[in-house]
Order: sequence, then C-alpha cells, then structure tokens
Amino acid sequence: MENTSNSKNGSAAWVEQLIHEYWTTSPQNSLANDSGEKAWDEPLIGFARASHPLFQQLATDLAPFYWTPEQAYALAFPGDPVSAEELCIISWVLPQTAATRADQREVTDVPAERWARSRDFGERFNCALRLHMAATLTSAGYPAVAPERLAEFGMQRSEQFGLASNWSERHTAHIAGLGTFGLSDGLITKRGKAVRFGSVVARIDLAATPHAYDNRQAWCLWHAKGICKVCARRCPADAITEAGHDKDKCFDYIRQVTAPYAQSTFGTEATPCGLCQVRIPCEERIPL
Ligand code: SF4
Ligand code: SF4
Repeated sequence: MENTSNSKNGSAAWVEQLIHEYWTTSPQNSLANDSGEKAWDEPLIGFARASHPLFQQLATDLAPFYWTPEQAYALAFPGDPVSAEELCIISWVLPQTAATRADQREVTDVPAERWARSRDFGERFNCALRLHMAATLTSAGYPAVAPERLAEFGMQRSEQFGLASNWSERHTAHIAGLGTFGLSDGLITKRGKAVRFGSVVARIDLAATPHAYDNRQAWCLWHAKGICKVCARRCPADAITEAGHDKDKCFDYIRQVTAPYAQSTFGTEATPCGLCQVRIPCEERIPL
C-alpha cells in the first residue's frame, strides 16, 4: 500500500498511523444517527509478541479450543508455517465517547440509545477495522489475520470457565499492555472500562508494549484494595459478585432483556448492555 505518512513501513509508528487514519476517515466510524457523530474516541494501541507465555497459558488454562496466535495465523495462511517468534499481535482499544457515556450513566436497567448504537454500528466499524488492518498489512508484505473475523471463530463452553470464545480480544489487549481485569471481568484501560477491543495477528517484527502492571487485576479497586464493587451494584442481573462475573446470568439478561429492548426501541441489532461499564470509578480512567 502507499505510505502517506513519514513512518517506515513495518514500524510501530506506521501500524499506529494505519489505525488512526482509518479511525479518522472511515465513514463507518459512526453511530449512524442524525448528528453524524463518531462511534468511538481516539484508539489506544498496544503490541504483543506471540511468544509471550500468557498466550500459551490461556490456551492451556481456558479450553482446548482456545487459539494461540500461531494457530489463528495457520487457519488463514495454512501454506505459511511460522513459529510464535515470527508473529506479533496488534491490539487496539476503542473508547466510548463522552456523549455515549453520559447517556448510559442515566439508565439503570436497559442501555441508552447511543450505547446500543455503538454496540451495533460501532462494532461493525470495529469489524471493518479488523479486516482493513489484516488486508493492508498483508498487501504491504506482512501477512495478517483478524482471528475474530475467521469463519471458525465462535463460542463454546469451557468446563472450567463456562461460555468462552476461541479468541478473546480482552485477554489479547491485556497481554499487549493495554489494561487489567476488573471485578466484572471487563478490562480497565487508560481510558477506563467503557471501551471495546480489536486485534490482528501479523508476521511482523514489533517491540512488545511494556506492561505498566504486575498482575492481571492490578488496576481494579476491589482487587487492589478490597473496596468499590460499584460495578456489581450497577448490574441489574446480579451477575457481578465478590466471586466475579457470572457469565450465564449476564448472557441470559442480555438475550432476554436488553437485546430485545434495543431492537424494539431503537431498531438496533447486536447484544448491548454495558450498564456495569459506566457510573463507576473505572468508567474512563484507571481508578487507583
Ligand atoms: S467498578 Fe470498582 S470493583 Fe468494579 S471493576 Fe471498576 S474498580 Fe473494580
Ligand atoms: S453486561 Fe449487563 S448483565 Fe452483564 S454484567 Fe454488565 S450490567 Fe450485568
């Protein structure tokens, strides 16, 4: 592809520029409402080496169906065998806008319209960004795949962890230095927890983003100091307790209440809820 920036092809700055350009220029980065406002604030970006031991640990601990980066890459490029040392993961955070967060703070049982729109149209943009990054990197000589966009991507039931997908954008972002898990299992980033994530796996050589934390829950007030639990009080389904996040309760509430509500009220598709992501100390920042 033509490089319109001053960054060298294949560099971290070039990759970041690609994401920022798409975020800035894509008409899909929109809530598709009358105001024409963007779906997302400016992205945060992190990098991980596929050889990071947490990728293998996830595949070992979570379920046999969970992909390592090299397994996801092999599904897209079966004729290009690679080792983990040759692959990097590019991960991004898309923060909700101030307007979306403000609307969502006012609701208690069902999502606000902007939030429902971000879950539908905003996630469509996120999917387009995943495919754009995979295609752009590949055509520039850095074969890349968006695991979440593979036909084989899906959810299964893990014996130990319940419903789980074979690629987790949140866990990937954590390994890429972008945040730590909260009591609700959402990832707290420098822009808080009201965010969504995306990633691609690429045959490219990028330095890993240093971790500004020493454990997977370091930035959550409950885990660090034994205080807060505000996200638990925000959940209308009682799906968050001191024991963590009950995925089945959350899944049922979204499928039975919030998704049908959003569909019938706003005409949006997808599965919005996110009440536990706002009006909390970690909504838009690291709370410590
Ligand atoms: S609201 Fe409080 S307890 Fe919940 S994830 Fe955020 S910091 Fe942790
Ligand atoms: S997404 Fe909704 S149902 Fe699930 S934990 Fe958060 S507030 Fe509760």
